[in-house]
Amino acid sequence: MSYVFTPPAIASVPVAGGGDFPVHRIYCVGRNYADHAVEMGFTGREPPFFFLKPADAVVPVAEGETGSIPYPTLTKNFHHEIELVVAIGTGGRHIAAADALQHIWGYAVGLDMTRRDLQNEMKKQGRPWCIGKAFDHSAPIGPLVPRARTGELLTGAITLAVNGEVRQKGDLSELIWSVNETIEQLSAAWELRPGDLIYTGTPAGVSAVKAGDVMEGTIAGLGTLRVAVA
Ligand code: MN
Repeated sequence: MSYVFTPPAIASVPVAGGGDFPVHRIYCVGRNYADHAVEMGFTGREPPFFFLKPADAVVPVAEGETGSIPYPTLTKNFHHEIELVVAIGTGGRHIAAADALQHIWGYAVGLDMTRRDLQNEMKKQGRPWCIGKAFDHSAPIGPLVPRARTGELLTGAITLAVNGEVRQKGDLSELIWSVNETIEQLSAAWELRPGDLIYTGTPAGVSAVKAGDVMEGTIAGLGTLRVAVA
């Protein structure tokens, strides 16, 4: 292979305890907690749907550190969405929910940052969400914790505070489509590959942040992801 320029580095996420997890794709699930679906104007009983972010949208934040993301261009309504991130270690197609667990390498705390005004405008016009969701630095993520250490994550508090004030609060058990069902649905539409990340959806309470704010997202068993808006 003789590339015509040096290819960019592979995006990766640090692993708790050492090593780095190379990122292949970032899949995201929309409206996967009933209370958030309702706050966005839906019933909470719709089938799951997916969108993607580019792999290099990840902003990896090492354990105990505070990450930093720039306030993005074009928006006046920059929203946080705290989410459980599932990392795929073994790929596959048409994975049954009952077999999904063995495909999971580990878990992390993630933020699906959103230019809400642009997303809403695209929704209104029936256009793709890319400009509202898939922009640079839109996927902060804490260290991946191997499933070997956590076991299967089915329950546990998921919260997000901004400058110390809690804004989002839920429990993983409230996911409309479980992680295993999500993997079944995703793998029917795409071949999952090692290195894929799945942002599994956010509970209610999404709201805007501004420059200078510090977000702290916590999921029981995974620790805290701390990110400042520069
Ligand atoms: Mn989301």
